[in-house]
Order: sequence, then C-alpha cells, then structure tokens
Amino acid sequence: MKDVQFMILRKENFNGFISQLAKTQKVMAPVAKGNKSFVFEEVTSGDQISLKYIPTVLPPKKFFMPQREPLVEFDQAKGLEMQAIVEQEKMVLFGVHTCDLAGIQCLNMVFSERPKDYNYLTRKYKINIIGLGCNEYCDEHASCNLVNANVPNGGYDLFFSDVGDYFIVHINTHAGDEIIEQTKFFEPIAKENMQDLVNLREKKKNIFKNEIPIESRDIAELFDKSFESPVWEEVGERCLSCGNCTNVCPTCYCFDIIDEVNLDLKSGKRYRKWYSCQLDPFALVAGGENFRKSRAARQKHRYYRKFKYPVSKFSRFFCTGCGRCTRTCMAGISLKETLNNLIKERVNKLWIKWL
Ligand code: SF4
Ligand code: SF4
Repeated sequence: MKDVQFMILRKENFNGFISQLAKTQKVMAPVAKGNKSFVFEEVTSGDQISLKYIPTVLPPKKFFMPQREPLVEFDQAKGLEMQAIVEQEKMVLFGVHTCDLAGIQCLNMVFSERPKDYNYLTRKYKINIIGLGCNEYCDEHASCNLVNANVPNGGYDLFFSDVGDYFIVHINTHAGDEIIEQTKFFEPIAKENMQDLVNLREKKKNIFKNEIPIESRDIAELFDKSFESPVWEEVGERCLSCGNCTNVCPTCYCFDIIDEVNLDLKSGKRYRKWYSCQLDPFALVAGGENFRKSRAARQKHRYYRKFKYPVSKFSRFFCTGCGRCTRTCMAGISLKETLNNLIKERVNKLWIKWL
C-alpha cells in the first residue's frame, strides 16, 4: 500500500466511478424502496444509490452469510463421500454505514474462531467494502453513539466522508488502493480538504449524542445486576416470538442445518439457514426439555447476547445501535426503551436501599 492515505472524489465523478467499478465486478449499494425503506442490491450506476439512507431492512450480513446456503451435496450413486459447496462471488459493497461495519467486524470474530467457518471466510475475502459516514442520526431508534459505532473503527477498504461538493476518501487497505488505481476518478487531497474533514468531525460531535443515560463502560455492570429484573417479564408479555428482531440484526448469526433429499432418495444437499433464539423450539433439547420456554427468558437472552456475554468473550458489544430490531418489531418493543427501563429500575432500587 502507498503512503497516500486520503484522496478526494468530486460528486460529478461519482456516477462514473460506480459505473466503472460495476464493469469489473458486482456492486451492491443501498437503494430506496418506497417510504423510508432501503435494501442493499446490485447497482450499475451511482444515480441508483441512496447516499442518504436509514439502515437497510436486512444488514449486509446477507452477503457474508446468506439466509439459506448449501454446505454440502451428496449422491450415493457416486459413493459415500460428500462434496463441500461454497457459493461465492467477487463483489464490492458500497455505502456501508459505521454501525454495519461494526456488525461485520463482530461476525468476523465469531466465524474466525476455531473451528473456522470456511464458507463465511471464503466469501469475506471475495468482498471489498466501501464505508460511508453518516452526517446525521438516521432516526429516533438508532443508538450507535452509546456503543461507539457512529465513528469508523476499521473493517473497510475505503471510507467515504461526504463534505458537500465532494467526498474525502480514506484508503485503508491494499484492495482499497487498487480500486482507486483502477477507476482513475480520484484526486490528491489538499490541506483545505483535510480542514473540511476536521470541521465535519467537529460538527458531528454535536449531532451524535448518547441519548441513553448510561456510559458504555457501565452497561456490563447494569446487565450483571438485572438478571432478575421485572423488565424481562414486561417485554416477554408483549413479544410475539416472530424472530424478526434477530433476522434483521447485523450481529445475530445463529443458524439451523437441514438436509434435503431429492426424489431419488439417494442424492441431495445440506443447507444452513438463519435461525432465531426468539422461536420456541430454539432451546429445545433431547428428552423434550426446553430451557428457555418463556418469551421473557428468550427476550432476556437476546439482550444478554448483545450487551453482556460478548463483552466477556470478545471484549465488545454485539449491538451496533443500528435500531433495526426496534424498527421491525410488530409489538413495538424498543431496544432504547428496554435499556431505559433497566436503568430506571436500577436507580429506583438504589434509592430504596438508601432511604
Ligand atoms: S421482533 Fe418483536 S415481537 Fe418479534 S421476536 Fe423480536 S421482540 Fe418479539
Ligand atoms: S440489537 Fe437491534 S440495535 Fe442492536 S445491532 Fe441488533 S438490530 Fe441493531
């Protein structure tokens, strides 16, 4: 990688950049679908892309870990050995917000643990990521500032900051450097451009405020003390156990394995598909015991899998504050409201003890 870390791309060259990139590989980017709804899908030109968007319905994890993917195929007519399958293609993900970059970093940690997940990692090495900074909070459901996911913390090849008439582009990897070299639309950065970036960062400090009355360093302790909280029963009574919140979450990675046998009863494929800890049979074990039978227990588990267990194991939250779970919940269960209720309950308990 060269010493140059920043370049600029003028907005009048944005369409040309995307069109040229799309000639050599698939480009996936946020595209508007009706009112306040966006999806990552293939684009061939910059004008198809929504540069201002709230988190897409499904996070970009769908490219790294598809909702349903074949793992092996078998055919007894050809012998007893199974053939591993990895469906993969080279692509560029453009416009990934910092919350989703954080989500991909969480999945990278999980799937790089031993035994490594070959399918996930093979796909990951085929995908280049171009991040895009948010200049304002996407809506009232986002809480990215609480978990420090409103600023870029790596996990991208290039990162675009929109400073008005042009983008300032941070080159983070050799692959990012190659994209810059191939497309020829980028210009060297000048001192005044860097000042624009400094000004933008200062401005964003006043926009991205933590709206939840707790510091991120105190969250693990809050969860330590909230295991028996009545908040879980309240949330459990409202929850419909649909599993939508986990499907849309950028860091949820649970899956189920199913075998599908063809009509000849000799050949077929083994698939994995997304699964959800919010579904009743998730914790059902042999003998018929279900160790998270109530919806309250399953909801509690979901929150502990975001704010407590991964902090012990990976030293990071597995919530990126994207707000998708709240936006999608038909029962109106809000992550911010649940955190606020846990905090309130804790404060009340402390007062009662003190009085
Ligand atoms: S989306 Fe809402 S109702 Fe559905 S499982 Fe999640 S919390 Fe429950
Ligand atoms: S728990 Fe909700 S807010 Fe947090 S990362 Fe998952 S979907 Fe986003």
